[in-house]
Amino acid sequence: ALLRSLCTKRAPVHIGRMCYSSSAPTTKLFIDGKFVESNTSEWIDIHNPATNEVVSRVPKATQEEMNAAAESCSRAFTSWSETSVLSRQQVFLRYQQIIKDNIKELAKSITLEQGKTLADAEGDVFRGLQVVEHACSITSLMLGETLPSITKDMDTYTYRLPLGVCAGIAPFNFPAMIPLWMFPLGMVCGNTYLMKPSERVPGCTMLLAKMLQDSGAPDGTLNIIHGQHAAVNFVCDHPSIKAISFVGSNQAGEYIYERGSKNGKRVQSNMGAKNHGVVLPDANKENTLNQLVGAAFGAAGQRCMALSTAIFVGESREWLPELVERSKTLRVNAGDQPGADVGPLISPEAKKRVESLIQAGVDEGAQVLLDGRNVHVKGYENGNFVGPTILNKVKPDMTCYKEEIFGPVLVVLEADSLDDAISLINNNPYGNGTAIFTNNGAAARKFTHGVDVGQIGVNVPIPVPLPMFSFTGSRGSFRGDTNFYGKQGIQFYTQIKTVTSQWKAEDATVTSPAVTMPT
Ligand code: NAD
Repeated sequence: ALLRSLCTKRAPVHIGRMCYSSSAPTTKLFIDGKFVESNTSEWIDIHNPATNEVVSRVPKATQEEMNAAAESCSRAFTSWSETSVLSRQQVFLRYQQIIKDNIKELAKSITLEQGKTLADAEGDVFRGLQVVEHACSITSLMLGETLPSITKDMDTYTYRLPLGVCAGIAPFNFPAMIPLWMFPLGMVCGNTYLMKPSERVPGCTMLLAKMLQDSGAPDGTLNIIHGQHAAVNFVCDHPSIKAISFVGSNQAGEYIYERGSKNGKRVQSNMGAKNHGVVLPDANKENTLNQLVGAAFGAAGQRCMALSTAIFVGESREWLPELVERSKTLRVNAGDQPGADVGPLISPEAKKRVESLIQAGVDEGAQVLLDGRNVHVKGYENGNFVGPTILNKVKPDMTCYKEEIFGPVLVVLEADSLDDAISLINNNPYGNGTAIFTNNGAAARKFTHGVDVGQIGVNVPIPVPLPMFSFTGSRGSFRGDTNFYGKQGIQFYTQIKTVTSQWKAEDATVTSPAVTMPT
């Protein structure tokens, strides 16, 4: 109901099974504290991935509208940056409660536009909520440093101060969590924020904006624009924007990092992945197989931390038939259907791409142990479904290994030793996440020290750090030098001012000019 109130609703036109876009509700812009209809003539249809019916339309904001949003952020910065840290903390204390009270409504909007199961959508909100909760500790997080008596009567101290207007550009796969990595932390530090959600799943961000307004965030502290390339270029080029947080594909992330940096902005860019799970024969078999299945196929594999590649070391390869049997038990269905484990992919194009990567694997010599193509989901024949798929005997030069598939496809490689598994991982360009399954502490230690990957799980399949730490993907999965959330997030959204002061006692007056560098 709340989402609908943020859309302009017109009577839908149904012809057969299709719902036509000119009649679909429109997503509004959020400018200067108002949810406003765009004047644009360019709209993008948003489909329910389980049915491909159009559920709403999102505008490509005009230059005028984007300028108005950035100007609103700039105006609001003057007062918001001077608002006491305790008042900013209060806004986010109220915000975390409102999000908590509305998890189910937020999850419904995610399932409608993104397709993931309702239970998984609640997890999406919950992991973002944890960042908001962490942001409420800003009174400690933003503390500066001080060192008295640097020399006689002289003290030095530092402040952390906001940067100005910051901006976030988000992907489609976590409609709540990833925007919540961005604007709450940026704003609680005293910045104002311009958000560009994914044009494929804007609804959840609009709900989050309404809840933030209800929490008492002043008009203009958060503005939301919609669109694709023009909106991204606007963010990269606008002189008021001091920092950009990006999460998404390498193609977009490398471009945004380069363009934003050239314009003198701070950019943090979290990008694609190919995460390997290494299975040693001494691992707890039951736990390992269940964790692999969940981490490969959960969210239909559309997670940057999905374990999309398994490396079976030595005799553990004998567990493969059991892995296949467990994967077969997952229920593929629309995300809002009871018992659904694997929802649809985001679009027909994504489905086609995933199916063609499976086919490429077959053509290049991989063995299909489980084939999720042509899965039939009763009542949702138009949806973008691919069932759990397992490709065995994959080699590093195959396309299905080199590309990020971003679907419910597990590619399986074999290694003779832990050393071989480590070198496979280190030869892969991505460095987002990896996991080892073992009961041998020494092997786990060797692995954690030997792999050149930013986030490592030991018997933990998806090691996404909680917000008191930072999200530390590395190598091809990250550009920038300061990561998302945790201490690094605070660093990213603040600059430091250092004051050195001397208060001499009256009897210690400077009696002559000092022309040499003080020592
Ligand atoms: P995407 O790059 O297509 O879109 C992300 C954002 O960039 C969107 O807001 C979109 O409008 C914009 N965009 C898209 N193409 C662009 C281009 N050519 N130039 C400029 N801007 C562009 O990503 P997606 O498909 O929405 O998300 C999936 C990708 O995100 C996967 O690669 C996944 O691994 C990655 N991801 C990474 C993390 C992480 O933390 N490392 C987290 C989630 C998703």
